[in-house]
Amino acid sequence: MKLDNESIKSVKILGVKINKVDNKEAFDVFVELLKSDATSTIYTPNPEMVMMAQEDKELNDALFNGNLVVPDGIGLIFASNIYKLGLVERVTGFDLMENMLEYSNRRKLKVFLLGGKPKVAERAQKNINKTYKNLNIVGTHDGYFSEEEGYKVLDLINEKKPDILFVALGASKQEKWIEKNRKILDTSIAMGVGGCLDVWAGDVKRAPEVFIKMNLEWFYRFLKQPTRLIRLFAIPRFLFRVITNKEMMES
Ligand code: UDP
Repeated sequence: MKLDNESIKSVKILGVKINKVDNKEAFDVFVELLKSDATSTIYTPNPEMVMMAQEDKELNDALFNGNLVVPDGIGLIFASNIYKLGLVERVTGFDLMENMLEYSNRRKLKVFLLGGKPKVAERAQKNINKTYKNLNIVGTHDGYFSEEEGYKVLDLINEKKPDILFVALGASKQEKWIEKNRKILDTSIAMGVGGCLDVWAGDVKRAPEVFIKMNLEWFYRFLKQPTRLIRLFAIPRFLFRVITNKEMMES
């Protein structure tokens, strides 16, 4: 099966493309994308990122060009339900990354971890290798580099030729970086993973299962990092926009 961007169904939420995939389908698309010669991109927007994309055309374009764009936020499912767009479940970047790591471990794929504060990616590597013992993590690099240093980072990645490059530079920066460099990058898949390396490094805890099941992961994150409060305001703003901008919702 050849996958182009038209063959995976998508919806638009406030004008931002999101693929209509559940967790299983997202994983199946990832496996298909691995077969392509060109670099494919995977993004995991939540309502906050959709709000950012309202004022940031470069981000919106990156998401539009993404080969797999999964709904990583319960707010997106709410919005879809209001207009019956057909998104069925939340697909978190963390879960998808975990499935990709498990698959890479089995299939002996090469993985590169880019992003986070110095040493975060190395600590994430150690912990990932505790779970996935045979996983070949071919390189790591922190996410704080100048534009000039960025060329060296690209060289480092391309020397290692990973099958999968996980990029944790924070929402919007990582998507724009991937989109800008996708033609230069020698990797099958480049995926924006936000705070996932911090979780793997053990610096940030993922919410307990009960919070995840009740769709309250965002609330748990707020309890742990109250400085995120300002970011939480994006959610009511998002819902208000959704309710008042029917024309920006497409199934
Ligand atoms: N980060 C980075 N370089 C930057 C900005 C952020 O490597 O220039 C990293 C940061 O250290 C963290 C990750 O990006 O590990 C995600 O940041 P944040 O918690 O803001 O995630 P978001 O939810 O915005 O994706």
